[in-house]
Amino acid sequence: MSSGWCGRDFKPRTFPKHDPVVCYAHPKAAQVNQAEYDEKRFNALSGDKVLELTVERQSAKIWEMKANDLCRVTVIEASQVGDMNFWNLNNPKKERFYAGKTRQIHSAHLNVYDRLWSNLPYLRPMATVVGDSIKYGIDSDGAGINDVIGTRCDDYTYKLITGKDKRQSCHSQLTDAARSVGLEEEDVHDVWNIFMCTGITKDTHQYFCKPSPAVKGDYIEFIADMDLLVGLSACPQGDVSYPVGVIVPIEDCHPLGVEVFRQK
Ligand SMILES: [Zn+2]
Repeated sequence: MSSGWCGRDFKPRTFPKHDPVVCYAHPKAAQVNQAEYDEKRFNALSGDKVLELTVERQSAKIWEMKANDLCRVTVIEASQVGDMNFWNLNNPKKERFYAGKTRQIHSAHLNVYDRLWSNLPYLRPMATVVGDSIKYGIDSDGAGINDVIGTRCDDYTYKLITGKDKRQSCHSQLTDAARSVGLEEEDVHDVWNIFMCTGITKDTHQYFCKPSPAVKGDYIEFIADMDLLVGLSACPQGDVSYPVGVIVPIEDCHPLGVEVFRQK
């Protein structure tokens, strides 16, 4: 069989074919009791709404949650993605969300009953997803929503790609929000990309985005598994239908609504 090798350099290697092995196929400790979390959700939503705020377009906010509070983030105007950070309220300089390990334990796109895990050496559940109005699944390009693949958009990478300076990104917005509670730029970390539709190209394995399928009224819900500081940036890329480097018109950027419910 021709391999296309012309006799120069090294002959291309061939490799034995193996079936994929899902490395974390049985993370039993990572699985939640679904009935327990359904009940927690019911109890929280039947309780008091203890916080309601709007993350205005092209901005970020930060708020506190107690363990077992439920947070619902809603698309309140039109399609818009959000970038989320999580810190342990009682130890925010050290314990925070670990997107990479969360991806390994669960999957590249988080589903209901998946959890958001904290960094080492803690590796504890910080929150558990309990509601998703979209349920996009995995499409024919391998794309899904609510990923833990990509990082937040940032002005440093923007400059790397375009050569231009700017300060308007999820990273800068989350940095401003973090500073408002005594944290620093270095405390901003890799995010949970809510409402964002992403995947890895089949041929070149590059990160790709599609316009968010979220419409007005869509929401995602999670329950805090510890006392939390939660940050949310309404991405200045709007629904991410523009590639990096294109200036997104402000009318294509929208706010996100946040509600926190607590069991009586
Ligand atoms: Zn962004």
